[in-house]
Amino acid sequence: MSDSASHLGRDIRRARAQGLSAIARRQEDRLADIVAHARATSPYYRELYRGLPERVADPALLPVTDKKKLMASFDDWVSDREITYEKVSAFADDPELIGHRFLGKHMVATTSGTSGRRGLFLLDDGYMAVTSALTSRALTTWLGPAGVLRATARGGRFAQLVATGGHYAGFAGYSRMIREGGWRAKLIRAFSVHTPMAELVARLNAYRPAVVIGYASTIMLLAAEQEAGRLRIDPLLVEPAGETMTTGDTDRIAAAFGARVGTVYGATECAYLSYGCAEGWYHVNSDWAVVEPVDAEYRPTPPGEFSHTVLVSNLANRVQPFLRYDLGDSVLVRPEPCPCGNLLPAVRVQGRAGDVLTFPDGHGGNVSLAPLAFGTLFDRTPGVEMFQIEQTARTTLRVRLLPAAGADPDSVWEAARRELSRLLTDNHLGGVTIERAEEPPRQAPGGKYRTVIPLA
Ligand SMILES: [Zn+2]
Repeated sequence: MSDSASHLGRDIRRARAQGLSAIARRQEDRLADIVAHARATSPYYRELYRGLPERVADPALLPVTDKKKLMASFDDWVSDREITYEKVSAFADDPELIGHRFLGKHMVATTSGTSGRRGLFLLDDGYMAVTSALTSRALTTWLGPAGVLRATARGGRFAQLVATGGHYAGFAGYSRMIREGGWRAKLIRAFSVHTPMAELVARLNAYRPAVVIGYASTIMLLAAEQEAGRLRIDPLLVEPAGETMTTGDTDRIAAAFGARVGTVYGATECAYLSYGCAEGWYHVNSDWAVVEPVDAEYRPTPPGEFSHTVLVSNLANRVQPFLRYDLGDSVLVRPEPCPCGNLLPAVRVQGRAGDVLTFPDGHGGNVSLAPLAFGTLFDRTPGVEMFQIEQTARTTLRVRLLPAAGADPDSVWEAARRELSRLLTDNHLGGVTIERAEEPPRQAPGGKYRTVIPLA
């Protein structure tokens, strides 16, 4: 472990041991610091924060930002004038560069975008170090001291379920770890969520992981395989991520694998935002993040009520500051302390649930596909600004595409249809009909876009 990593780990432990006021003090100081940094280095924030006091330690003073606004001002938003949307975009479009550092410095990640809109992210070393320190802490908490020893005795192998073929945070982080070496690289293996299920099951059976980490919807499909007896692994910990789960889902995973389930509520904008506890709450790492549940006018939502949306500030990532950023989820803050004993604020989340599509396999059974498979597919299709897939009958998918400005709608459709057909054929679903919709993606009443809508 490097000096800065052990320093970080120590600070995180100390903050939690000293209690809430020590955590609040760190949050205030780090917020003031990153706001000052954003004003000094980002023309976007300099303009946005014009007229604010010189030192800002109260997040409520800051104007709200969102993905659309920030992505539209990308070149002015980032804190380094050498970085442009064009350069990062070209980097993110090159699969050869997955796991490499952009400008020799930063990790690049794109999202399959549950909002249906592509995001382009730069993760600096500070952000990566905080994520790594908080993740290690969460793993240790979930496994417990005895679990850590048992996992180590069993070889300590991690299976990470990743979306390959693009710069998605999980796969990009994995590829970087493999490229740059280190002890962890030897203990972790990536498995593509695009692998047909029977093959994925066979490969996991052969690998015998102690810990399984990956997209929640794929883990749900694997839980069904384990229940059916085809998957026969014995992990100590299963960590579904990327999509929010219900407690029914996590109970099912725990029972299927006979394992502890560690849940995460975060986003590429702030990966380390919060980790789940045994009581079913997510505890916010508020020494490194600010979480504000608010109503539609961005006024605070009282504890005990679900909010309209949530504003998040990442206090670690300096290259691309996300400050008071509208994440779009509805969250509820637990009014009283959590019985698990963790003092950090406890939240529950609605929204971003993984919608799994299920089709008849023609032999009396079903084939299920995770929503992520579609998201990553459309991400690598050039010219797709936004998409939505609705299952309108058991074997019919209606596809709504919004082509990017300047793109030819017919060729975008042709490319998207080809990719989608290939995905279906790979999963023995060649009989599923693909319909081209005339209408653009439809918004849900809450203003959100669901990218995948299963048959009602
Ligand atoms: Zn708790």
